[in-house]
Amino acid sequence: MKKILTGLKPTGDLTLGNYIGAISQMVKLQDEYESFVFVADLHALTTYQNPDELRQRIRKFIAMYIACGIDPKKNTIYIQSENEYLGNISYLLECSTTYGEASRMIQFKEKSKQNANFSVGLLTYPILMASDILYCDTDLVPVGIDQKQHVELARNIAERFNNKYGYTFKLPEPFINSNGQKINDLKYPDKKMSKSEENPNGVISLFDSVEDVKSKIKKATTDSLNNIHYDKENQPGISNLLNIASILDNASIEELENRFKGKGYGEFKSYVADVVGNFIEKIQAKYNEIINSKELDEILDAGIKKSRELAREKYELMKERMGLIR
Ligand code: ATP
Ligand code: MG
Repeated sequence: MKKILTGLKPTGDLTLGNYIGAISQMVKLQDEYESFVFVADLHALTTYQNPDELRQRIRKFIAMYIACGIDPKKNTIYIQSENEYLGNISYLLECSTTYGEASRMIQFKEKSKQNANFSVGLLTYPILMASDILYCDTDLVPVGIDQKQHVELARNIAERFNNKYGYTFKLPEPFINSNGQKINDLKYPDKKMSKSEENPNGVISLFDSVEDVKSKIKKATTDSLNNIHYDKENQPGISNLLNIASILDNASIEELENRFKGKGYGEFKSYVADVVGNFIEKIQAKYNEIINSKELDEILDAGIKKSRELAREKYELMKERMGLIR
C-alpha cells in the first residue's frame, strides 16, 4: 500500500484553509493509502510560542483532526517532537543540502524579511520537513500550493542522498487539490488565509463560533462588479467564496455560478455563511466529544510507537550508508 503523510504546525488555531488544503485531502485518501498525520510542533518553534498555549494547542490539533474525519483506525497519528529520531535524521539530511537551495525557499525569503532577528530554524526547517516526509517512505504529501516547493526540496535531497550513498529514500511527490490549493484571507483576498495571521477578521478558525463565522463571511471583501463569477484576477473575493462553498457543499464552481446568476452578493454570502456555519457546527460537536477523552492519549501512544520504530530503522540505515558504524 502506498503512503501519504501530512503535518500542520501549531502556530495558531487551525483554519478553514488548513482543512481544505491538507486535512480534507487526507480524509479523502485515507481508505486507499497507509496514512500518517502529525502535529508539526517542532516547526512551530521557528518563531516564539508561549509554552502553555503551545501545549494546549497541540492537543486541540489532534482532537480537531479526528473531528474533521481523520480516522484513528486508518491513520498513524502522532506528535512530531515525541519522535526524537526525526531531529537526528534531519541533521544528516542537512549535510546533503546546500545553503543556496535552503535559502532559495520562498517562505524563508518572505519570513526572514519580516523579522531581522529570524532564527536559524527558519532556514533549516524545510530540511526537518524533508526528514518528516522521508523517514517513513512517503509516496504522496497532500499540501496546499504554498508547501509545494518544500516537498520538492525533500525530493531533491532524497535523490542526492541516494546518488551519494545508495538507495535509501523513496522519492515523494506533493499532492495538490486543484481548487482547494489555496484558500485566501476573507479581508485581503490576494493573500493566503493563515493561522498565524494577526488580524482574525479575514481568517476562519475551526474553533470560531458559528455566529462569528457567519459574520466574517458576510463582511468578506468583494468588489463592485455585482456578478457571481469565478475570476481570480478581477474578483478575488468572490472567487475565494466560490471556492470555499464549492468544496464544502460538494458543488462545482460552474453549478454555483449558474445557481446565483443575476442574484446579489448579499444572497450569495448568506448561502456561503450557512454552508460554512453548518460545517463548523458539525465538526465542533465532534471535537467537544473527544477533546477530554482518554482515547486521545491511547491514539497518540500507538501513533508515536509506530512512528519511532520506522524512524529508528531509517536512521540506522542512513548511518550505515554514511559510514557511521563501528
Ligand atoms: P502559518 O501561518 O503558521 O504558516 P498555515 O495556516 O500556513 O500557518 P501550516 O501549518 O503552515 O499552516 O500548513 C499546514 C498545511 O495547510 C499545509 O499543507 C499548507 O499547505 C496548508 N494550508 C495552509 N494554509 C492554507 C490555505 N490558505 N489554503 C490551502 N491550504 C493551506
Ligand atoms: Mg504556512
